Amino acid sequence: MSFRGRFAPSPTGYLHLGGLRTALYTYLLARRNNGTFVLRIEDTDQEREVPGAVEKIYASLRAAGLRYDEGPDVGGPYAPYVQSERKDQYLPFAQQLVESGHAYYCFCTKEELDERRQAASERGETFKYDKHCMNMSKEERQAKLDAGVPYVIRFNMPTEGTSGFDDLIYGRLDVDCSTLDDIILIKADGLPTYNFANVVDDHLMDITMVTRGTEYLSSTPKYNLIYEALGWTPPQYLHLPTVMADATRKLSKRYGDPSFEDLLDMGYLRDAIINFIALLGWSPRNEREFYTMEELEQIFDVEGLNKSPSLFDMQKLTWFNAEYMRQLPFEEYLAIATPWFEKVLEPGKFDLRRLAELTHSRTEVLNRLPDMVSFLAEMPEFDNELYTHKKMKTNPEVAKQALEWVLPVLEGAPEWTETTLHDLLMPAIAESGMKNGQVLWPLRIAISGREATPGGAMEIMYLLGREETLNRIRLSLSKL
Ligand code: GLU
Repeated sequence: MSFRGRFAPSPTGYLHLGGLRTALYTYLLARRNNGTFVLRIEDTDQEREVPGAVEKIYASLRAAGLRYDEGPDVGGPYAPYVQSERKDQYLPFAQQLVESGHAYYCFCTKEELDERRQAASERGETFKYDKHCMNMSKEERQAKLDAGVPYVIRFNMPTEGTSGFDDLIYGRLDVDCSTLDDIILIKADGLPTYNFANVVDDHLMDITMVTRGTEYLSSTPKYNLIYEALGWTPPQYLHLPTVMADATRKLSKRYGDPSFEDLLDMGYLRDAIINFIALLGWSPRNEREFYTMEELEQIFDVEGLNKSPSLFDMQKLTWFNAEYMRQLPFEEYLAIATPWFEKVLEPGKFDLRRLAELTHSRTEVLNRLPDMVSFLAEMPEFDNELYTHKKMKTNPEVAKQALEWVLPVLEGAPEWTETTLHDLLMPAIAESGMKNGQVLWPLRIAISGREATPGGAMEIMYLLGREETLNRIRLSLSKL
């Protein structure tokens, strides 16, 4: 059978980066194996559902470039792909399990269960459903069903033997069946639990490989027993290690860690995020770090996956992003940088094309741009000590002389372009006996108020224009 992988998120919020990684790996395995990538929405826990979350999942996957071949909004031969729209599919299988003795009706109320849970914890035991309702007589069960007493359907776990499976990353995992709980298959509202729905759907949708987080490792032996009881063949399993924010905790929005959307909003590039996420837990087994999606589709493999939790290192992502920024064709960079410039610069007032040339190679993340260029819109306050620079041999006193000298030279500039300014100043400085740095450093400080700027004195003078430049020099001089 050809490869069929699925990404099966629950619509409980935004797409977090661990989820994005699961989706990406599943997508890449599907492409690599000429298979099919399926999106399935798992919304059987309607209390946890967040309105709008489904649309967000579609939008995020699209933004990430993860095209799914089948899914709720694109259709496919196994439709529908939303579990709540498949709700009639599950009950017959649960009933089949009841008939074969692999499942049973349970009428225990929440209060009764809480009481037993409490008693177990007082005895220092972990509560496990005690199969109370399994031993109910046929007549009693029928009477309750006839009386409309609410019930759930539970799986009857074997109490002896072991159940296990082979995980593609973690290898063979076996558990003692006596430790397994009689999980609920169908809830009192008639909907299946995630536990049951994922098994039924993976089977009905001919899924050949299940990829998901390690939080499901311990449940998988239970799922395999359900497959067995229904006479189905389980898929291959690939459980992915957790993405950690640091050594002690999982990446989580609750602690302010960014989601995929957040990163895009901050001005990280899609391709940089994808490249970075691909390497969070997978290694191409060589030194190369930069890969396009097309390349990943060719080389991604199970063998390169790592067992240990991966660390989400924001600095590393930023480093990746800076490299992707530099590689962007200039026109593309200009187009995406412009709105960020315009957050602080009045549209039409500055030569943004020239500014973009100056910022292109030093843009780590787009959201740093407004701060990098805001001095153009408004002269920042600064301390005269900023004029002090050892290597340039400047200090406030040298600055004062230099500015007093340079002001009339600039006032006489016939034209205000970078070239004319350069051709006017450089020979004049040489003639004056001062060093270039002794003039250009203070001049740049005097008109920018910043120690570091994109571009040097000539570029900034050009961007500011004649009048603003001369005004700023006069203002800074008056403070010396
Ligand atoms: N719906 C589950 C979740 O969002 C997915 C588990 C699975 O892929 O089987 O965590």
